[in-house]
Amino acid sequence: MDCPGCNVEMVDLEGEMTLRKCGECGGLWVDVADLNRELLHANLPGLESLGGKVDANALTGQCPECQVDLVRVDGGARQHPLHYDTCESCGGMFLESEFRDAMDQQTAKQEIVEFFREFSAKKRSAAL
Ligand SMILES: [Zn+2]
Ligand SMILES: [Zn+2]
Repeated sequence: MDCPGCNVEMVDLEGEMTLRKCGECGGLWVDVADLNRELLHANLPGLESLGGKVDANALTGQCPECQVDLVRVDGGARQHPLHYDTCESCGGMFLESEFRDAMDQQTAKQEIVEFFREFSAKKRSAAL
């Protein structure tokens, strides 16, 4: 499966999750069901409760599996904006560029949880 950003083959990270990594940009491809399981495991709410705003004008790549355009979702704090791209067809998610150190699933999972903690930070502080 090719990276939606770089069109190079992504590497499978072995483990129970569907997790692929792009050696070029450091992006991760993750399945939404697996992702939600990890978030709940880390005491975070599911993805749909994490906030974020769809950016309809963003230029995204295509889902490597479905060949449909990915949808950009923006979140994070103003000082540290984050985004992910998601496929509405298969539920695949592409997390870009924040995961260069993730060479195995264990590390990748921790980094993904960190990513979504920060992604939802603004929403949580707004709710206080
Ligand atoms: Zn890439
Ligand atoms: Zn898809």
